[in-house]
Amino acid sequence: MVGRCAQGGLTPTDIVVGINPGSTYGDAKRWLPERFAEVTERLCRTIHTSPGQQVSVVIFGAKGEEHLGQEIAARLSSRSLVLSGATTIRELMAAVKRCSLLLTNDTGPMHIASAFKVPVVAVFGPTDWRTTSPFGGAHAIVREPVDCAPCLLRECPIDHRCMTRVTVDQVYEAATKQLTPLGVRGEGLGETPSPPHASRLTPYGALDGVTVFLDRDGTLNYDPGYLKIAADLKLLAGVGPALARLKKVGAKLVVVTNQSGVGRGILTLKDLEAIHARLQGLLEQEDVALDAIYFCPHHPDDGCRCRKPNVGMVERAVSELQLDFRRFYLIGDHARDIQLAHRVGAKSVLLTPAPVDAQSLEGLKAEKAMPDAMAKSMAEAVDWIFIDAMKSAKGRDERERRERQES
Ligand SMILES: [Zn+2]
Repeated sequence: MVGRCAQGGLTPTDIVVGINPGSTYGDAKRWLPERFAEVTERLCRTIHTSPGQQVSVVIFGAKGEEHLGQEIAARLSSRSLVLSGATTIRELMAAVKRCSLLLTNDTGPMHIASAFKVPVVAVFGPTDWRTTSPFGGAHAIVREPVDCAPCLLRECPIDHRCMTRVTVDQVYEAATKQLTPLGVRGEGLGETPSPPHASRLTPYGALDGVTVFLDRDGTLNYDPGYLKIAADLKLLAGVGPALARLKKVGAKLVVVTNQSGVGRGILTLKDLEAIHARLQGLLEQEDVALDAIYFCPHHPDDGCRCRKPNVGMVERAVSELQLDFRRFYLIGDHARDIQLAHRVGAKSVLLTPAPVDAQSLEGLKAEKAMPDAMAKSMAEAVDWIFIDAMKSAKGRDERERRERQES
């Protein structure tokens, strides 16, 4: 493979953009070749290279797709290597691994890339992005929500709108987002320096049935003390991507927040509504849809059932959202969040920016607020939940297997 790359003019320092414009399944899964070429052309111009370094394009494809590869190569001004129909599976894997980014349709190489943690931008048309999207964090799916998709047809009986409506701009934008956080700009080789999050190894749907309760102030957003004005709400670093990882594998996200500022007359319900609209808006920009936000507006002296650590908000969520209470997690930054978790049988993660000293630990024990885990960021908290949920699922499978054997 190394030999073949050298033949094609690729050097070890090249930044390699891979494209896989074909699909053996049928034409319906193919985004338009001229658009693949245009996005690639634009990317090659965008990617920053060090002196002596260059961007090269490798075009993948199956046997019979050689013409497609050549057609795209002819449209590119950067150096390109057409491997369509010319690789064994091992060679394909090695070449995909060498890429800093793979632009692809919904295909096998897409999954190979995600297994190697190569950032992927996949254009989905007739197939179901929910069931066959690559697992792991380093990918973006671009698709158009048309009525007829997913149809799973090999050939489109109408105008192929699921693909023709996907624009060059959309794919280009998704691709630049994949590149930048991975530090490809100016860094050279196609290694991915991003941290190996547990979710990359977590299959789609792995957290179906799991609910993660989230505190709001100090957990999702900076806590200025009685946040009043929606525009002042700012998400804490890393919250969006971390929650997106949970959503992607099926977890439900439910915010439970004490807002006694309302009962104290500091802000109105209308202010609170605006704040929550902004919270949802900011999270939606990060591909996170909250399943619900519950708040307690009461004064601590009101003795209501909903103020944490009381269980009223969780009870309401259970009945309104039909949650499986055997699979609850809670992330919060306050002892009363953890106390609530204990009361509803949720596993809990306490967010704490600094390590907890022995004295505070004793304090938590005394308050019956010992969490199952502590994390210094939302990303860490989510990693812990992934690992715990996978372990629990494995334990459950084994228990069920034993029970079947015994019966
Ligand atoms: Zn209340």
